[in-house]
Amino acid sequence: MEYDGSRYTKDNQGLNCDCLLFDLDDTLYPFTSGIAADISNNIQDYMVHKLGVDDSVSLELCILLYKQYGTTMAGLRAVGYHFDYDDFHSFVHGRLSYEKIKPDPLLRNILLSLPIRKVVFTNGDRIHASRALKRLGIEDCFEKVVCFETLNPTSPPPAPSDKLEIFDIMKHLAHPEPGLELPKSPILCKPSREAMLQALKVASINPPTTILFDDSFRNIEAAKQIGMRTVLVGTSERKKGADHALESLHNMKEALPELWEEAEKDEDVRNSSKVGIQTSVIA
Ligand SMILES: [Mg+2]
Repeated sequence: MEYDGSRYTKDNQGLNCDCLLFDLDDTLYPFTSGIAADISNNIQDYMVHKLGVDDSVSLELCILLYKQYGTTMAGLRAVGYHFDYDDFHSFVHGRLSYEKIKPDPLLRNILLSLPIRKVVFTNGDRIHASRALKRLGIEDCFEKVVCFETLNPTSPPPAPSDKLEIFDIMKHLAHPEPGLELPKSPILCKPSREAMLQALKVASINPPTTILFDDSFRNIEAAKQIGMRTVLVGTSERKKGADHALESLHNMKEALPELWEEAEKDEDVRNSSKVGIQTSVIA
């Protein structure tokens, strides 16, 4: 692929990096795949057909909950809907056409050329992550996948038999009642600080020596606050909070040559220490 130097921006800070943390959706595969739009449609179908949300407000509610809670799913639980997490995921992700995600040998080569630990951190479920990574042909490039089930291991018990009380968040945000706080979600997901810290703990990740690649600016902001280096993916416009901005992970090597230089330095050190050991044995 022809590299266009104008398609990324960066600053010139030195790197001390021992882990690359990647978001999955719209980061490891591009937004142009159409998968994001299909997921959004499936979520709205779930809201209407499984939870009884009025069709005329499903899109607005879907977006509003996503903005307030990180994922629509987390928002649905917060406002009082009751559903099984596996049922939600099999409805929303189980019907996706994964052939829309194309194998990406270029990305595979880039990942494999970096002898640095790589971890995926997605709000999606395990099966979705596995199917998407397999389609890309990069499932063996990562040491670990931190996914929905990692942070939310158990579904809620079956719905109570009495009628559910649903918090009318659309009405509340249109006319906020003073002193009334938004309900909290029992689901842990990005960009909440708690979810970020939990993911880092589970994967034994040290924030100052980790770079997060994510297409969501709010995830980037949250990671920055925790002390990670950040790369906003899917745009060449660097916003405050993002150390770099890349239209595509394909531009990684041009935008972050320091990663490869560091890896080479490490390799040199390893080789020289091997020579040192051999020499001392011979002597
Ligand atoms: Mg994403």
